[in-house]
Amino acid sequence: MSFVVHHDVELAQRTTFGVGGRARTLVSVWDPRALPEVVSRFGPVRVLGGGSNVLVADEGVAETLIHLLPSAPERAGGHSTAEAGLTCEVESHTVRLHAAAGMRWDDVVAYSVQRGWQGLECLSGIPGTVGAAPIQNIGAYGQEVADVVEAVEVYDLGHGSPRSLPAAECGFGYRTSRFKGQESQPPRAGEAGPFVVTGVRLRLKADAPGCTRYRDVAERLPEGGSVASVRAAVLEVRYAKGMLVHPALGTDARSAGSFFVNPVVPDAVAERITATHPDIPSWRASASAVKLSAAWLIERAGIARGYRRGRAAISSRHTLALTALDGATAAEVVALGREVRARVLAAFGISLDPEPVLLGFYSDVWAS
Ligand SMILES: Cc1cc2nc3c(=O)[nH]c(=O)nc-3n(C[C@H](O)[C@H](O)[C@H](O)COP(=O)(O)OP(=O)(O)OC[C@H]3O[C@@H](n4cnc5c(N)ncnc54)[C@H](O)[C@@H]3O)c2cc1C
Repeated sequence: MSFVVHHDVELAQRTTFGVGGRARTLVSVWDPRALPEVVSRFGPVRVLGGGSNVLVADEGVAETLIHLLPSAPERAGGHSTAEAGLTCEVESHTVRLHAAAGMRWDDVVAYSVQRGWQGLECLSGIPGTVGAAPIQNIGAYGQEVADVVEAVEVYDLGHGSPRSLPAAECGFGYRTSRFKGQESQPPRAGEAGPFVVTGVRLRLKADAPGCTRYRDVAERLPEGGSVASVRAAVLEVRYAKGMLVHPALGTDARSAGSFFVNPVVPDAVAERITATHPDIPSWRASASAVKLSAAWLIERAGIARGYRRGRAAISSRHTLALTALDGATAAEVVALGREVRARVLAAFGISLDPEPVLLGFYSDVWAS
């Protein structure tokens, strides 16, 4: 047997928000070869990784949830270890790392940083699993996972077979990929997808200095530094911003990280806003589009850190993080998210896109 079936599972404790109802069925799978049987017995399915980028509805989730483990529970005690699920090959200056989807992402980062390998150090401290990393092309402090992905291994629910998708076929973009949002669509026989990510192949540099491209990291390491010093700097910045899952951060860590992605707008829209607000932080996103700071837009729409609506609040350390206070419901988090969106829209004419994936919501909660 390569999977275990659990019934009536409380989901709040399996997510970083800590809110939401129950799953009728959750299947823990440690051998991806079991996926065809799981899907045929329990489909439709959705995947739950570390629950750090989902908001679960108070009413719970009707679909069967699949939870991938890096190895059999008796071997790893139900938890990911740095070695279980990881294989690597070092050839001259290049390291090829294969990580199983069920591993903890930060274990893989720590493992590579300890060996001086370059490519993941800025992605230190991001909660969640390896399998979720390509879903929204996780990124932080000057790196994104797409920079180092060679291929994503998937189980294709449409074709009913495993596949390896080279990075060029993954549709990676800013906080997105071809996988984001795909699982909520039912598979259609003969058509590719949706995909369950079963592993990721990464290509790292064996001996290169750490990446200090991002301002907050560069300020701490003005002379540059090793991958280990970049990891330490990133973890420090993350702690200060409440962007780590850490018990000392209290309810500030009860979030899904950034709740909104930075909006990418056409040049004409950016010019309209910068004409009256020249201080808005912005970055060129393409030849004709500019990325604007969502945190700045929220603050200037009159919503400050610590702002509360019911038992949901803006983090006291980061404007982009919506947090769940003691006793909060998913509905309260949604209500705060809706208010933030409405106020930014009214002030700037820009509609912010939420980043976390909704589980168990069966209508468009963001429609106004
Ligand atoms: C404090 C905090 C800080 C964060 N900082 C960052 C950051 O800096 N940058 C960033 O990009 N994100 C950040 N996040 C968001 C989150 O950690 C990442 O998106 C992470 O990759 C989610 O992993 P997970 O395993 O928890 O996924 P989950 O939340 O369990 O799932 C997220 C989505 O991915 C799907 N999914 C998960 N695993 C698979 C799989 N194997 N196959 C197919 N689909 C799958 C799920 O169905 C769901 O749609 C942060 C979150 C928190 C709480």
